[in-house]
Amino acid sequence: MVINYGCRHCGKEIGMLNDTEMDVSLRFLDLLKEQDMAEMLTPAQDGSFRLEVICEYCQQALDTHPDYHELDYFLQ
Ligand SMILES: [Zn+2]
Repeated sequence: MVINYGCRHCGKEIGMLNDTEMDVSLRFLDLLKEQDMAEMLTPAQDGSFRLEVICEYCQQALDTHPDYHELDYFLQ
């Protein structure tokens, strides 16, 4: 099982987790346990999964400009 995770706002690829890193993966997912994982994990055509999170840059932008939170694609 491979999970690609990237930013839901700017589309930036943050990283990839595979079976050998599953310990790390589970810890990572544990951090997100309050989110709806079914909604966040999107199956990809190649059999991997994509996890949409928010990158540091966008988190910073949201912290600075909370209004942007309502826009899905405020960064191009
Ligand atoms: Zn981002």
